[in-house]
Amino acid sequence: MSEFDHLQTDCSKCAALCCLVLTFDKGKDFAFDKNPGEPCRNLSGHKCSIHDKLEPKGFSGCVSYDCLGAGNRVIQEVFGGRTWQADSRLIRVMMEAFSAMCEVHKRIDRLRAAETFSLKPRDAQTCREFLAHLEQHRWSGPELNEFEVGLALEIDMFFYGIIDHLPPAVAEEILAQ
Ligand code: SF4
Repeated sequence: MSEFDHLQTDCSKCAALCCLVLTFDKGKDFAFDKNPGEPCRNLSGHKCSIHDKLEPKGFSGCVSYDCLGAGNRVIQEVFGGRTWQADSRLIRVMMEAFSAMCEVHKRIDRLRAAETFSLKPRDAQTCREFLAHLEQHRWSGPELNEFEVGLALEIDMFFYGIIDHLPPAVAEEILAQ
């Protein structure tokens, strides 16, 4: 693992990407409907105006959500600290980058879980190489756009090949895809 843990979410270095990108339906976890790309009406700048009272206000879904550091990495690494609030032309590309980075970080999480189990030496080496690439690479928007149709599929094929050696929760997640 690198010195800085990419899976560590730091909302102070993000620009409320989850509150822009994600969709939710009114129900037990959310108090109203929100479409993808629609800034949540509880947003005030980059901050949630009801952050301290999410559950009583009917937003327990926000409490349980964790982007696994994808949001802060997109804003800092891909967009150099720029925000969609300051430049609305960035909304679409930031949404795409956030969705793809979530997929990158989901696979980092799974590869780390796989690494803790006894894999054949060759599989353990492949696992380490994938992890090193996903963590150390400085992603650009176009590279992220390619991720799901390229490297993500390669990693998923690797997972299918070692599925019997994976932690049950990780194996279930992969099989449910
Ligand atoms: S309620 Fe707050 S944390 Fe949840 S999406 Fe809206 S602004 Fe974000």
